[in-house]
Amino acid sequence: MPSIHDLAAIELVRRRLKFDRYRLRQVRNAFYKKYLPAAVALEEIAEPHRTALAAEVEFHALTLESRHDSRIDGATKLIFRTSAGLLIESVILRLTTGRTTLCVSTQVGCAAHCDFCATGKMGIARNLSAAEIVDQLVQANQLLAAESRSVRNLVFMGMGEPFHNEEQLEASIQLLIDPACFHLNPRRLLISTVGIPEAMTRMAQRHPQVRLALSLHSARQDVRRQIMPIAERYPLEVLRQALVEVFALQGHEVMIEYLLLADVNDQSDDAAALIDYVRDIPVHINLIPYNPIAEAPHLRGSDRPRREAFSAQLKAAGLAVTTRYSLGADIAAACGQLVRQEHRKNAGAARVVTLKSNPPANVS
Ligand code: SF4
Repeated sequence: MPSIHDLAAIELVRRRLKFDRYRLRQVRNAFYKKYLPAAVALEEIAEPHRTALAAEVEFHALTLESRHDSRIDGATKLIFRTSAGLLIESVILRLTTGRTTLCVSTQVGCAAHCDFCATGKMGIARNLSAAEIVDQLVQANQLLAAESRSVRNLVFMGMGEPFHNEEQLEASIQLLIDPACFHLNPRRLLISTVGIPEAMTRMAQRHPQVRLALSLHSARQDVRRQIMPIAERYPLEVLRQALVEVFALQGHEVMIEYLLLADVNDQSDDAAALIDYVRDIPVHINLIPYNPIAEAPHLRGSDRPRREAFSAQLKAAGLAVTTRYSLGADIAAACGQLVRQEHRKNAGAARVVTLKSNPPANVS
């Protein structure tokens, strides 16, 4: 059954059923831009075409398994189930500015194995399809409609390394910016990556307005290799060249994500290495507090005085720095944490992620 997001396949269905192109446009507007449920959007088409189209098109690639609302801030975690019973998560962040951001997953699990990440401890099961990626937005917007809210910014920062699923990432971006579908401003899309240099450059070439965030976490190769195995393959000097190229192509600052881990990457020497690393590259540095996970008992977040000292050192060197505060601390804020909890709870009912030592075929 073709997905509603497969525009070419749906056009063939429309021709075969012989109903007006304008009516299909109305359905899409209702579904993508007014966030109406599929059954309501389909009311834009008269019978018998409505029933025929409903029987031939898949509107949702995922099933909402559960929703977890934070009692302390505006975060909501959504757990989705794929058709094969695998679980993934998305996070709605209601910011104090009134804006809403959605963090989406691009893979079931992740092959990058970052030491500090619950998803990285799962291994990788498979890539998500573009339909599964954008369905996270469709369903989040349908929930938010009850609050008269909608997603303004979408960040590819959930489970998975987006550039390890580059083909479906690109297909999802095409849908997100397509005027016939979601019609989002590409400036409101952000891709967070552990740093796949050639994919970063390709993305900056194809979409100069889409923002990139590099999860750096250390500007010292030995430290970065210790917490992010991918650093072995892409050493810091190669990544730095990619940052230079991305800026040359996009013309706007690149985000640098830096998780502060006590006695790992939070000392004055680490800040000095970071200052040196980004010298002459326009960047914005986000310092992120660490959400501890049971699978990494050897890691602790930096305490507040250390975070402040680290930030002050960067600012004194003239860098743009923001200290982020983690939302959803009461609903397992770390990426993948809640899915792991659900797996344990549902053991037997839900299929758990299959651990593999090798990444999927299209991992760069
Ligand atoms: S931090 Fe991102 S890239 Fe690293 S293991 Fe977790 S999901 Fe994968």
